[in-house]
Amino acid sequence: MNKIIPSWTISNPISRRTTKEVRVGNIGIGGNNPIRIQSMTNTDTMDTIATVEQTLRLVDKGCELVRITASNVQAAQNLYNIKNELAKRNCYVPLIADIHFNPKAAEIAAEIVEKVRINPGNYTDRNISKIEYSDSEYKQELEKISERLFPLIEICKKNNTAIRIGTNHGSLSQRIMARYGNTPFAMATSAMEFVEICKNLDFENLVLSMKSSNVKVMHYATRILCSMMQEKDLQFPIHLGVTEAGNEFEGRVKSMCGIGSLLALGIGDTIRVSLTEIPENEIPVAKDIVAAYSNISPLQSEKTITLNSEFEKRQKPTDFSNSERIDICKESVESIIERLKASSYPAGIIVQSDKDFNLERLLGNTTALIMESMVDKVELCDSLLQAELLQATGEEIYKAEFIACPSCGRTKYDIQSALAKVKEKCKHLKGLKIAVMGCIVNGPGEMADADYGYIGGLENKVHLYRGKQLVHSNIPEDVALNLLIDMIKEDGKWQDVI
Ligand code: SF4
Repeated sequence: MNKIIPSWTISNPISRRTTKEVRVGNIGIGGNNPIRIQSMTNTDTMDTIATVEQTLRLVDKGCELVRITASNVQAAQNLYNIKNELAKRNCYVPLIADIHFNPKAAEIAAEIVEKVRINPGNYTDRNISKIEYSDSEYKQELEKISERLFPLIEICKKNNTAIRIGTNHGSLSQRIMARYGNTPFAMATSAMEFVEICKNLDFENLVLSMKSSNVKVMHYATRILCSMMQEKDLQFPIHLGVTEAGNEFEGRVKSMCGIGSLLALGIGDTIRVSLTEIPENEIPVAKDIVAAYSNISPLQSEKTITLNSEFEKRQKPTDFSNSERIDICKESVESIIERLKASSYPAGIIVQSDKDFNLERLLGNTTALIMESMVDKVELCDSLLQAELLQATGEEIYKAEFIACPSCGRTKYDIQSALAKVKEKCKHLKGLKIAVMGCIVNGPGEMADADYGYIGGLENKVHLYRGKQLVHSNIPEDVALNLLIDMIKEDGKWQDVI
């Protein structure tokens, strides 16, 4: 069977998306609950005290759910000690086990913590390089997944444990990509396959997420997922996040654009801002995003957009004299969409009239309109903010892009200082994408389409990648940056700073 690269129909916005409530310990997600804030520890899960203390710091800042990596059976078992130690300190925050590749770890964790995150791209799918599946082979693979999920579902039912089906753009299974390509449609389909399996096993305690380091991909994948659920009358809550967003101002802008653009359209029940910084830094950013969208009024109408797999939009004009100037500070997203829809969607120019306008709303609302293909040009008061917004949404590139994970218990080197050094040397290389990732388990996949990868290996060692090709393996960190620069020079992509 040939690969299916479909057009995607996304129906939205309609109103704040109605979702059912999923209980995660003492916290409700979806339904009438406020948008919940979560984060993830980056300590070694086997280090009980360090993980407990970081969890307490996160809770103290306002984090409502804490995710902890359970990369193997021992780490999953140690969640028991972490939970007990937290209880001794009067902390009953719901914990989420983060699972990749290891169903046994998921089954152990599901008896201890309140929620388990599984990645449909690597939960049971074998990552073989098969490029074509007949319909019967495809069906057989789904049956195998169902068999493998069955014990986890039974444990979750018995313990009231919730599951997040968390799809990541960088770790789709070969089976899904063989049929649907590496696309937002494929991401949504991969989650929906797991939803169907869970429903057939009579389990609906589910939260879903579509994450990518690419704002456009996470935005469209989430909206396609919502449309697919709408067609089947399903109302599972949605978790939002831009993964590997990096750090500093640009990491924050990416999250405000990606998460805000969906909250602006009434989508999202819980969020995580991922930063390559101490996890505690994520919480104030997340709080500000939630505050900007806590009173969103429902949209009154429905429209349908069909996009092809290349996000193809109509040709942008070079002459803007007939474009409408839309003041993002004076009008709501709802009324802008309504008005432009009534005039057959002529795209306009976003302008910002009020310098003190709420930053999170400005970025979220503008990105929502860009994603609706309603904006050809953006004119903000702050030119740096404008450049960052356009870079974050992929509309205009003015510098190198850095894809960097927040790190977790799998990271064995100082990723925060590595990212700072790589950025310092390479930020002027306009158009290059460089990934700085915490671990070899997920790093190469999650760095998506980066030109170069700087990826953690053994203790204080690094692997260097050119695209998907491993060039240097487990080299000492102190020589890695120079070797990376040499690789960029060999490829003729280096420019000296003028
Ligand atoms: S890529 Fe980063 S966040 Fe993801 S599993 Fe590896 S270290 Fe953890």
